[in-house]
Parts: sequence; structure tokens; C-alpha cells
Amino acid sequence: MKNKRFYKLGFTLIEIMIVIAIIGILAAMAMPSFKQSRDRAKQTKCFEFSALLSRTADLYAIEQKTHPKNVEDLKYLLSNERVPICPSAGVFRFIEKATWDDDGIKVECSIHGCSESTWGG
Ligand SMILES: [Zn+2]
Repeated sequence: MKNKRFYKLGFTLIEIMIVIAIIGILAAMAMPSFKQSRDRAKQTKCFEFSALLSRTADLYAIEQKTHPKNVEDLKYLLSNERVPICPSAGVFRFIEKATWDDDGIKVECSIHGCSESTWGG
């Protein structure tokens, strides 16, 4: 009688293993989605930065009457004189002048490329 009551108190090893397996399956299903949304957030931030640099390069061209040689030239026009960096550690650079259209100077990231947005990215 006492022995039977003892066994009803806790979970069996099989029950615990099933719960752990279910948690593992759910985590495995959620991880790719989590990574994908994190990558998308980094890309969006990168495009935002490249758009900022494109607009700043246009401002530089108006002020200095010449195009900036590299992104560091824009430093004095940016807040706290800090050039934004890509969240994925890509390098911003100007796209060749031959491919510029009427929208102005374009900036692209070495990892994420160039934004197709109309905000100048
Ligand atoms: Zn980037």
C-alpha cells in the first residue's frame, strides 16, 4: 500500500523524456524563424544607414562642390561625427559614378548591397 503511493508522486522517466523531446522539437522549429527575423532587422538597419549616407553625400556635394572620396569624408556632417556602421560588419562604399541616376550619390554595403527604396539608399 505504501509502496504504491510512492510511485504516484512524481513523473516517470518516459514522461520527462517526452516533455523534453517536445520542447526540443518546438525550439528547433522556432530557431530558423528567429534567425531570419534577426537578419531581416539587420538588413533594414543597414539600408537605413546607407540611405542616411547617400543623403549626407548629396549634402557634401552641395557644400564642397565635389563628390566625397569615401564615407569618412562625411564625418563632419554626421551626428557626433560618427559614421554609422553596418550591423553585420559590412563596409559602406560609394557605387561607381557611372551608375548614378538623378537620385544622387548611392551608397552600398559590402554584405547587404544597395537598398531599392526611394529614400536614396
Ligand atoms: Zn550591411
